[in-house]
Amino acid sequence: MNEVQLEVAKAYPNDSGRGIARLDPDTLLHLKLSPGDIIEIEGAETTAAKVWRADRQDWNTDTVRIDGFTRQNADVGIGERVTIRKAEATKADRLVLAPPEEASVQFGSDAAGMVKRQILKRPVVERDIVPVMSSTNHPFMRSPGQAIPLIAVETDPDGVCLITEDTEVELREEPISGFEKTGGGITYEDIGGLGSEIQRVREMVELPMKHPQIFKKLGIDPPQGVLLHGPPGTGKTLLAKAVANETSASFFSIAGPEIISKYYGESEQQLREIFEDATEESPSIIFIDELDSIAPKREDVTGEVERRVVAQLLTMMDGLESRGQVIVIAATNRVDSVDPALRRPGRFDREIEIGVPDETGRKEILQIHTRGMPLADDVSLDTMAAETHGFVGADIESLTKEAAMKALRRYLPEIDLDEEDIPPSLIDRMIIKRADFRGALNE
Ligand code: ADP
Repeated sequence: MNEVQLEVAKAYPNDSGRGIARLDPDTLLHLKLSPGDIIEIEGAETTAAKVWRADRQDWNTDTVRIDGFTRQNADVGIGERVTIRKAEATKADRLVLAPPEEASVQFGSDAAGMVKRQILKRPVVERDIVPVMSSTNHPFMRSPGQAIPLIAVETDPDGVCLITEDTEVELREEPISGFEKTGGGITYEDIGGLGSEIQRVREMVELPMKHPQIFKKLGIDPPQGVLLHGPPGTGKTLLAKAVANETSASFFSIAGPEIISKYYGESEQQLREIFEDATEESPSIIFIDELDSIAPKREDVTGEVERRVVAQLLTMMDGLESRGQVIVIAATNRVDSVDPALRRPGRFDREIEIGVPDETGRKEILQIHTRGMPLADDVSLDTMAAETHGFVGADIESLTKEAAMKALRRYLPEIDLDEEDIPPSLIDRMIIKRADFRGALNE
């Protein structure tokens, strides 16, 4: 059978949530595929995607670029190999979508129609996560601008199905239980401009988690603690969450300042419990935000609590036996204020600097945060990237949200707040213009 094995790479920033796979011309030729064709992607599970041509820099690299949803659908991680073959897609008569466990979604009256328009001509396999955008264009769900992962609980017929105008799409509000895939969570496509930093974190964290035997064989200890340092809002927390999500590790989060409790012994107790839970549910990532606030240099410490918390943290880190299966990632804005005892070998002995993004990074971050937004033709992300010198990711996120709010204010006079439904024609017309970004930028 005509098939190839390729290495999985992350999707381009604009591709996320579109159900596409990028292949290079060689692979297309070999599999007799044209852009727009449907392929089967087989990892630990099998899913399908629509083929697009890869950008030139990816040619001859033996990779396929797919987003976090498709990776979850195929149950593979970045760097793992999948088998690709042309799919026999049949037209779907029916598709039933439901939110994953614990998600609560409310659908408006025309939601099924809007969802169908979004996923038209896309392939779906039963049990797939089908990301659906809820943007200002599709105000039938909460959290605008984000992809809502719905799950294909039923397709008719089975196998690789193609959504067409004739497909009957049914939406269920009742969350579906017992599905392992959640589709939620941060993936590497949600991080802009930190290519080499992501690569380093993956080597330090993913590698020992997924292949502990490599470290055993070479007689080296996998890292126990990784310290991410850099200015606030640059994506440290985002990166830690993405690694946990992409490795399917349990994620435990400790907010530095919050764990300092005034009651005697409570902070230590809380730390101990988190480490115990993390060990029990390993592989796990424990994320400690603002490490400097719980573990400042001891000479700086006046508080008794801080001193005890540092001692407890040292004990817990030294006591971690599940080498490589529980990794502590800490973040700080002030690396020099972290207790040196915590930076010794076996503790936070790896450091990665997460800096302010450059122009290319800013463009990627802009692409990520405007993904679900209906942008007017006059909006140039290149220009905006050039004009936002000094902005960190968090600044760019607020800029895009503010621009959307400005656009909304333009349409407010046309919206009757007493009416339950907003006319679909108005929703279809809503766009965010260059002037909205300009206005947001000048504030
Ligand atoms: P930090 O932990 O470094 O203080 P966060 O990861 O909490 O920063 O970032 C806050 C928010 O800013 C994120 O939720 C995200 O929306 C946005 N953001 C920050 N950095 C990036 C980035 N590199 N790419 C995309 N979004 C980013």
